[in-house]
Amino acid sequence: MYEYRVCTRCVMDTTAADIVFDENGICNYCTDFLAMLKTAQEKVVDRVAHREEFIEEVKEAGKSKEYDCVVGVSGGVDSSYALYLTVKNGLRPLSVHLDNGWNSELASHNIANLVTSLGVDLYTHVIDWEENRDLQLSFFKANVVDIEMLMDNAMLALNYRQAANYGLKYILQGTNMATEGSAMPKGWNHFKYDVRNIRRIHKKFGSVPIRTHPLISTLDYIWFEFIRGIKWVSFLDYFPYNKFEAMETLKREVSYKPYPYKHYESVFTRFYQAVILPKKFGYDKRRVHLSTLVVSGQMSRAEAIRMLETPPYPDPQQEEQDRLFVMKKLGFTEQSFQDYIKAPGVPHELYGSEVELYPLLHTIYGTVRSAWRSVRGNRS
Ligand SMILES: [Zn+2]
Repeated sequence: MYEYRVCTRCVMDTTAADIVFDENGICNYCTDFLAMLKTAQEKVVDRVAHREEFIEEVKEAGKSKEYDCVVGVSGGVDSSYALYLTVKNGLRPLSVHLDNGWNSELASHNIANLVTSLGVDLYTHVIDWEENRDLQLSFFKANVVDIEMLMDNAMLALNYRQAANYGLKYILQGTNMATEGSAMPKGWNHFKYDVRNIRRIHKKFGSVPIRTHPLISTLDYIWFEFIRGIKWVSFLDYFPYNKFEAMETLKREVSYKPYPYKHYESVFTRFYQAVILPKKFGYDKRRVHLSTLVVSGQMSRAEAIRMLETPPYPDPQQEEQDRLFVMKKLGFTEQSFQDYIKAPGVPHELYGSEVELYPLLHTIYGTVRSAWRSVRGNRS
């Protein structure tokens, strides 16, 4: 029989379908996270010690190129700070931003301010709204959970393409291992490079031809990363990173304006995480984030439980305003939106997935790489 349980150490619960508890009621999520954290912290110590060398490598790779590296910016603190650090360390970044039509005004303002103050070139790709709307609606109609993978995939595609366009070897990102947090439970999100899944869902439910939307498949990723030799690097790993201090620096030096709450950068992201995920799929992603804070000693478990009892939107008026905005922008009626929320979720895999192609991809990659090496005389 199904029994509701919460971990006694973190705040993960049985909404994570594959959660298991030991005899003390401690779950696999926080146990795995603690093991991962130790390794990650050791790696970060090592990276911080080798920062100068790494920066020299990036500069060397950028010699005779227009830029040294690509840095993706969303308007959030992490990516803004990564861009700031590249400039402060003498690198010449090209900043890349994906505008998918859901940016908050404050996020756009922060990005504009950031690149102007730092004197950095910005490449913004504005997504074709009709295509994006049709893709997002296909995902709604398919009742799959990871609507955000459309944005994540496009963002990955854009960064790799810009690096390839300028012949650059490094994509430096505002991520870091030490604060990445606990793993997402299986079924709460989907594999981000699964273009086959995106195309299948769109073919079944979409109507607008996809001509310009950036997409990156597993095979494209292999091409960029291993054949073109473009490295995706968590740049913040090379620095002692404290989000609060990073925010203060950005406020002081590039007139950065903090957001009133998490995921404020994108109206869709905040609505998706605070309304669609809990109400339709029964997951609250805050559990993963809060568990990370509890286990790494940044918050008490009691405080995390108290926070989970409050609604994800800090303000009910804002929630209703966002709901009306999202419905209008995507073309939902009140009834069709209610029907969507009530309809059960469907696994992504049901529509076809690149994951099925893995054994094949592995073979292709091996063949392509050895062929390429013989052409280049194994120079790199
Ligand atoms: Zn736990």
